[in-house]
Amino acid sequence: MTFKFIEIENQGAVRRIWLNRPEKRNAQSQELLQELDDAFVAADRDPEIRAVILAGRGAHFSAGHDLDQAPRFVAGSIEDHYDYEARFYIEYCLRIWDLRKPVIAQVQGAAVAGGFMIANVCDLIIAAEDAYFADPVVQTMASAATEILSHPYTMGLRRAKQFLYLGEKMGAEEAYRIGMVNRVVPTEALADEAMAMAQRISMGSPFAMQLLKRSLNRSADMQGFRNAVQAHFDTHMFGHTTEGFRALIADGMKTALAKNKSVA
Ligand code: ZN
Repeated sequence: MTFKFIEIENQGAVRRIWLNRPEKRNAQSQELLQELDDAFVAADRDPEIRAVILAGRGAHFSAGHDLDQAPRFVAGSIEDHYDYEARFYIEYCLRIWDLRKPVIAQVQGAAVAGGFMIANVCDLIIAAEDAYFADPVVQTMASAATEILSHPYTMGLRRAKQFLYLGEKMGAEEAYRIGMVNRVVPTEALADEAMAMAQRISMGSPFAMQLLKRSLNRSADMQGFRNAVQAHFDTHMFGHTTEGFRALIADGMKTALAKNKSVA
């Protein structure tokens, strides 16, 4: 498999998938997301791989969806737009959540909006000291949060409301303090520490690890995770039909992009 926007690194039973579009702060284009999903499917099926790391090349993990492409997808019918987001955003994110093997997000710099979304569906997050997280789209995009509303499950309901209503940045230390991030390490040590964590996971019985992940995720499902996420997706898509959102698109996303720069 050859990739243009991601890069694959194997070390023993660990596969690290690098988002490799650093000149665009690893913005998630349709092409990048397709490659990423193909890579996750391949990692899941590869019997040699026991743990996966999702990382980003350059100064930032990911600044989110590639907003340069947004007008392309919303210019079409509501039906096409729904299908696009259902596949590239929710289905591909749930693939990471449902992957049989543990997935670690290795985050430095920005993990904003769609960038936060793919980090937050990973099993664990290891962050560099300079990492920050934000989902500011109610402020910047007239949207009801990003497509996957996993926030209440990883940061608690009260904090999720603050994070989303204010669209504020949360630094690595704060994310660690509230339990959303597992570890914070010096930026220069991030890649090695993430690999050490993944290697440790890979030493466990792979089948037992698979069962353990399934049980832990089912405990979230029993608290409503999957239904809540699916329900939010429909609500989110309804938001894309509103005058407020359409006005942003008609404006060529200029207002949204300018507001986004203040966060990402
Ligand atoms: Zn959307």
